[in-house]
Amino acid sequence: MTKPLIVITGASSGIGAAMARQFSDAGHPLLLVARRIDKLQALGLPDTICRKVDVTDAAALRAAIAEAEGVYGPVDGLINNAGLMLLGQVDTQDPAEWQRMYDVNVVALLNGMQAVLGDMKDRGRGTIINVSSIAGKKAFPNHAAYVGTKFAVSAISENVREEVADTGVRVMTICPGAVETELLGHTTSQDIIDGYQDWKNSIGGAIHPDDIARIAAFMYGQPQSVNIRDVVVGPTRQT
Ligand code: NDP
Repeated sequence: MTKPLIVITGASSGIGAAMARQFSDAGHPLLLVARRIDKLQALGLPDTICRKVDVTDAAALRAAIAEAEGVYGPVDGLINNAGLMLLGQVDTQDPAEWQRMYDVNVVALLNGMQAVLGDMKDRGRGTIINVSSIAGKKAFPNHAAYVGTKFAVSAISENVREEVADTGVRVMTICPGAVETELLGHTTSQDIIDGYQDWKNSIGGAIHPDDIARIAAFMYGQPQSVNIRDVVVGPTRQT
């Protein structure tokens, strides 16, 4: 039997790209979205539609989903993975940075859920996996605005999970610890980047994006009657 369509946002690098490979290897057709479409296409995955979408553009995301559903049938899995981490201190950080993080990490995630939830509820099945963070559980130095976005992701996910539970739709949250990706590279303070790298070295390094992708596939792969609600996974030596 043909496997159902999975949509992954932010699949052009890091965790999203690893998830794309993982779900493709498992036989799913995919819709991959991000702004760097060349990176999506370079993954070279079969039965995959790649679209240049800024996830803050809700209409563009909806249009890409409708196009993919026209080819592969209804979305059975949405992974809201696109995200941005811009570290800084609240007294000095450019407010435009936290606005961008809230737009991408929180508002776009809500838009993504809205794009698929109605149909999933009607069908009585479907899975949304929201990528939060260990920064959605506890504080870290220079992380105030980012931590705020990820606490919001965890809270929203759990709230929606409860709201739709009786329809049979699953909402799951995965909270990675330190993973080796491009995420840190967007922070503008070199001092903060250097401090973060020192901390990563002190815990023996970050884990690989494939480690998160494997766990997301395990969560999705449970029977629809089983919901692994919330997983925190990071390097063993990270406290
Ligand atoms: P990367 O920077 O490697 O990947 C981020 C992805 O998000 C890219 O594909 C990027 O694509 C996409 N993205 C960013 N902004 C937008 C946008 N406006 N529209 C569409 N896509 C966008 O980092 P990670 O793989 O680490 O991050 C993935 C998720 O994991 C994020 O939500 C992050 O917060 C979370 N996370 C990461 C951790 C880590 O240690 N790496 C730890 C905990 C959570 P493009 O630039 O092409 O648009």
